[in-house]
Amino acid sequence: MIKFLDLHKINERFRNEIDLRIKKVLDSGWYLLGKEDETFENNFAKFCGVRHCIGCANGLDALNLIIKGYGFKDGDEIIVPANTYIASILAITMNGCIPVLVEPDIKTYNINPDLIEAAITPKTKAIMVVHLYGQAVQTEKIWDITNRYGLKIIEDSAQAHGAMYNGKKTGNLGDASGFSFYPGKNLGCLGDGGCITTNDDELAAKIRAIRNYGSNVKYHNIYKGINSRLDEIQAAVLDVKLKHLDADNMCRREISKYYKENIKNPEIILPETYSENAHVWHIFAVRTKDRDKLQNYLTENDIQTLIHYPTPPHKQECYKEWNNLSFPVTEEIHKTILSLPISPVMEDDEVKKVVEVINGY
Ligand SMILES: *Cc1c(COP(=O)(O)O)cnc(C)c1O
Repeated sequence: MIKFLDLHKINERFRNEIDLRIKKVLDSGWYLLGKEDETFENNFAKFCGVRHCIGCANGLDALNLIIKGYGFKDGDEIIVPANTYIASILAITMNGCIPVLVEPDIKTYNINPDLIEAAITPKTKAIMVVHLYGQAVQTEKIWDITNRYGLKIIEDSAQAHGAMYNGKKTGNLGDASGFSFYPGKNLGCLGDGGCITTNDDELAAKIRAIRNYGSNVKYHNIYKGINSRLDEIQAAVLDVKLKHLDADNMCRREISKYYKENIKNPEIILPETYSENAHVWHIFAVRTKDRDKLQNYLTENDIQTLIHYPTPPHKQECYKEWNNLSFPVTEEIHKTILSLPISPVMEDDEVKKVVEVINGY
């Protein structure tokens, strides 16, 4: 069986270094927001090219903390792509804000910049861009809009660690950015983890406090905060793996290149990229008319695939109030999309086999 993602194999490569760093944490007697967190925050800020990185508990909280940091609430509107993972939307609704869904571009699967302006109202506060599947959103057009209307750009970078647009990395393409370090992400830890990056000094200071009960000085609470800290073990593991992120992303690019050059089946629509550095291929998503048939065929041929995602947020049971809304591009993507195996530990013969099997479909 060719696994969709072999997490054990991914982390096994760094076992010695990870073992040593975890032992160091255990020996230190300090387990939350300590030296490891500080070291990783500094290194990840440097990696993204931003002034601040603030560790937190997971990717959902990273977005949640940005919205809390800006003080958006009670009916404030945030524009967001309709075809994102549920977390982007939950971060908005959990703060009492309203997600205003906008259709993606069918070619990049990212928010269609040409449709954003029509979605702006006097209540709009921000545009949340999602670098979906690992491809950076072309933020230039969006900056033009946010500058004119005085809005913030919040990046959901959970799938795009290291992706670049116009020489800048995700995490540095908007006003503030949320990352997830869920084990399966391009940079993943051994549990849950996340962080916020920004160049905004004031926002960074506020988020730093809010993630830790709204407090900078113990037992002195300036904000109604939450508990969303990055623990020292996860920070240590992330610091080890960060050094290999660019190389891992290069492996993903090579596999995607091989897929794109060699999958030759008129039934399969391949993903498009606008530049080499823009995409870090968290997910290699193809589209086809009868997706379930293709998935079954691949399973029968020992190739594991996943669907990102089977149901769009506006059709989910938890958002009944939107179930009747219609987003045809989003729905078409959800109906036809299928994610092929891609990861830095895939062997050449596995990649070749995927291509051969698909070409025989
Ligand atoms: C993974 C993911 C998140 C949430 O991250 P968690 O760490 O699981 O909370 C948010 N947005 C997108 C697009 C994601 O893929």
